[in-house]
Amino acid sequence: MCNPAPPSPFESNELWERLRSHLDGVQPCRVCGSNDLEPWARKQYLEAKRCTVCGMISVNPHLTRAGVDLFYAHYFQFRQETSRLNEQRAIMYQLDRDWIQVFIQGGSVLDVGCSGGFFLNTFPPDRWEREGVEITQDAADFGREQFGIPIRVGDLMELTIEKRFDLVTLRGVIEHVPDPIPYLEKCASLLKPGGLLYITATPAGDAFAFDVYREKWILFTPLEHIHFFTHRLLTEVLHRFGLRPLAHHYPYAETPYAQPETDFRTIREDIARIQQGQGEQITRSVPFPGSMLTAAFKKEDG
Ligand SMILES: [Zn+2]
Repeated sequence: MCNPAPPSPFESNELWERLRSHLDGVQPCRVCGSNDLEPWARKQYLEAKRCTVCGMISVNPHLTRAGVDLFYAHYFQFRQETSRLNEQRAIMYQLDRDWIQVFIQGGSVLDVGCSGGFFLNTFPPDRWEREGVEITQDAADFGREQFGIPIRVGDLMELTIEKRFDLVTLRGVIEHVPDPIPYLEKCASLLKPGGLLYITATPAGDAFAFDVYREKWILFTPLEHIHFFTHRLLTEVLHRFGLRPLAHHYPYAETPYAQPETDFRTIREDIARIQQGQGEQITRSVPFPGSMLTAAFKKEDG
């Protein structure tokens, strides 16, 4: 078997073994509270389960808080070191900024889980008053020093933020958050009336490729990606907090990851392999339309 991807510390057996003792208990569905859960995909000791009532897919059980902290201790440093991926990410940041700027062209923006401020830094400072929230100190320090962006350090749930924003962004964040519903509620509470919540670069739980590939789906990295929302489920959850859907999109053809000619052929061949009981031959899925979700929600006025 050949694996074209470079070895990642996130997938090292040593890390998996170290984290094994930090496994939490099984939780009810985060969205609807049901305990009627069916197996969906499994990697080592982490299993994603699908709620048979609402369709939400989550890695369950996942790690305890101590396990999550241990996992993220070296996360920023590792992401900085994967430079080829950083070039591709830079293109994605601009695509994501351009998409939301169709709906809002300036004002105050809070990027929650802003890492080193790379995404925030794509918002022009003459039109945007930019702020971030970041849980890891080294990432926040980097963003403040490199880009001069004010970044609050801490867990969003434990921070007191009085200010209200025109735009709150969650880019590649909500799938990592152990308890995402109160987190979304807090994000909604930080918006001005009429403000936008922008959730982007999150793996879509209803992706065709997830159903086909399951544990071999390229976005199924269960140590870091815990929750796989769909646009329907986000709409349902955010309605509870006074938000309504504005627009959504599944970036693919415009991204640096897409190779439509080969991706479509590969998925057709892989489906045939799976149907013939030869799924073990597949290393992991190709990028495919519908896998990554981008969505904007608007807080109702008054
Ligand atoms: Zn459910």
